[in-house]
Amino acid sequence: MLMCTTTLKNQLFYCVLLVFSILKLPAQQYRDVDFTRAEAQLSIDPYKREVSGTVSYDFQLRKQVDTVYLDARNMKFDKVVLNGSPAQYTYNGRYLVLNDSFENLSKNKLELTYRVNPEKAMYFIGWNDSSGIGKKQLWTQGQGRYASHWIPTIDDRNEKVEYDLCICFLKGYNVLVNGELKDVNDNDTLTKWCYDMKRPMSSYLLAIAIGNYHKTTAVSRGGVPLECYFYPDDEELAKYTYKHSTTIFNHLEEEIGVKYPWQNYKQVPVRDFLHAGMENTTLTLFSDNFMVDSIGLKDRDYSNVCAHEMAHQWFGNLVTARSDTHHWLQEGFATYYALLAERKLLGDDYYYWKLYRSAEMLAEQSAEGMGEAVMDPKANSLTFYEKGALALHRLRAITGDAAFRKGVKDYLQKHAYSSVETSDFLDEIAASSGKDLTGFYQVWLQDSIFPTEEIMSDLRKNKFVDTYMRLVAGEFSEKEENALLEADVYYPVKQYIIAKRNADTVDVAWNRKLFASGDFHLRQVLAMSLERIPPDLKSEYESLLQDHSYITAEQSLFRLWRNFNADAPRYLDQTKQLSGFRDKSLRILWLALAILTPTYPDVAENREEAKARWRNELLGYTSENYAFEVRRNAFAIASQIGLFKDNAALKNLVNACVHHVWSFASTSRNTLVKLLKEQEYKDRLEELLPQLEAKERKYLESVLK
Ligand SMILES: [Zn+2]
Repeated sequence: MLMCTTTLKNQLFYCVLLVFSILKLPAQQYRDVDFTRAEAQLSIDPYKREVSGTVSYDFQLRKQVDTVYLDARNMKFDKVVLNGSPAQYTYNGRYLVLNDSFENLSKNKLELTYRVNPEKAMYFIGWNDSSGIGKKQLWTQGQGRYASHWIPTIDDRNEKVEYDLCICFLKGYNVLVNGELKDVNDNDTLTKWCYDMKRPMSSYLLAIAIGNYHKTTAVSRGGVPLECYFYPDDEELAKYTYKHSTTIFNHLEEEIGVKYPWQNYKQVPVRDFLHAGMENTTLTLFSDNFMVDSIGLKDRDYSNVCAHEMAHQWFGNLVTARSDTHHWLQEGFATYYALLAERKLLGDDYYYWKLYRSAEMLAEQSAEGMGEAVMDPKANSLTFYEKGALALHRLRAITGDAAFRKGVKDYLQKHAYSSVETSDFLDEIAASSGKDLTGFYQVWLQDSIFPTEEIMSDLRKNKFVDTYMRLVAGEFSEKEENALLEADVYYPVKQYIIAKRNADTVDVAWNRKLFASGDFHLRQVLAMSLERIPPDLKSEYESLLQDHSYITAEQSLFRLWRNFNADAPRYLDQTKQLSGFRDKSLRILWLALAILTPTYPDVAENREEAKARWRNELLGYTSENYAFEVRRNAFAIASQIGLFKDNAALKNLVNACVHHVWSFASTSRNTLVKLLKEQEYKDRLEELLPQLEAKERKYLESVLK
């Protein structure tokens, strides 16, 4: 390992050398060196947060070089063996560089024995939790984080390797890795899980997920095993969450026209995930917040995430964008193909509605002078995902269905298991359609200005979008709007009319009729659009509490409580059993309102005990034992009910400030900074310092200054 030590002069010299040696590494090693296969035998100790073991790589040289490097972050190497002999190498904590004459170009084997405590990319969840509430898990996230935090590898996505991993882990857990499970072996305390991949992939798609899971297995029309994982007590939820998985998989394979390129497909929910989902090859991980029951399904459907990550198995995993300039070849395609799969499930209006909503946002961004080109490597996700998807929708309209589908198929087959640029795709579409795509390329991929007129006139060919656009433009009379409410038209049109009218004045008779419709979408917008509930509509509004929607129940409970406070105990009684989403937003609202209602529960002598119990429940939700989504909801109402009077809540808040999910850490930091404006909290937090973990203490000290 290279270290900057000794005198300042030497230090500078050494650091210059170090920088030089980093710069000297070929930026595009993949052009000269081809790593073909990796075989790893790793042990993971979740309590020490340590990975150790051996990984061996087969590689070939396309031309004579004298150095070959791997990415390896903060590792300790016990052995580095090249072609059977100890290797000449340097390691600076970041790169492992082999220096050799590499006499045999076509056949080299490198064996690395190492250990590491990964700082990122591998996350250990719940291993400190002795309460038994939280679930013990381990999962990895490669994209944007780098697998080289836990395994010496090649971070460059253009280097595709066939990875076969064996993982040794504590008995009693499921260990999931890319590829097919070949072998499971137990000893007294450990189980060894060996997985096999048949085809190469980029290292950012390498993944491990470990936890306590059950699964169901379906088989796709083409014979691919589809495994859906769930926590042991979520069997019922799995039925609803994964309801459309097999159908979506079959739709995608049929639409894309290229056989699914891997051995199997697994979907695994994990806690405290960094994204909605991640398309690791054959092993999609997604936020367990998407696990829903039959009621939750209406408002939070996993289908879109499910289809998006599946589509990536072709677009991203089979063909990988060579650089960020071509990132839309992954995200634009996954977004577009997810919509195509959903179109089969939910219909044309759904498809056009989603595209229209994206187009609206992009038009606004562009009108504000913030438009971005799809091929701008620094573009935001709205551009990569949504503008990219709209570009494909337009391209298909320009070329026609058959030519588009043939072009996509040829593109995937020609570049399978390698990396691609935008021209690789457009060349195939130009060939299959015989069209000159120069104009499309300029307008849709190169220009930062969004072609609002072009896309809107395309989308309004769908009758529903046309009606919606005319409605927003104010083209309909009140009578025509009323007719639309009665008509068989997609629900956003009706929701728009209701929200707009109720924002002006509330017509009791008109609203009463809408309540009576029994329509889920209409009743949901009624719940949200009536900030002040006219007493004449009270009983209709109260009936919303019984609707099969957690969002409707949450919205209406809060408004009823505020509008008719005297009846609060009755509303609380009616909703005390509702479970809500996994993020507990409904339960947390209920607890807050129950604590804040002086007359609840009815029997006065039970009140003190009940309120203390509810307060404790809420306090519990701020702790590390719960997922960050639950904690975020609990912290959001903590100040209002004086939860921070308790030191445990303050400690939990400081812990949240150093959480790996940045958005959660950030809102927690804002809350902490607000508290610190009061001397009382400042003093109490200072007193807590000695009880905190090192990372928490360091952070708190930095803000106390
Ligand atoms: Zn994606």
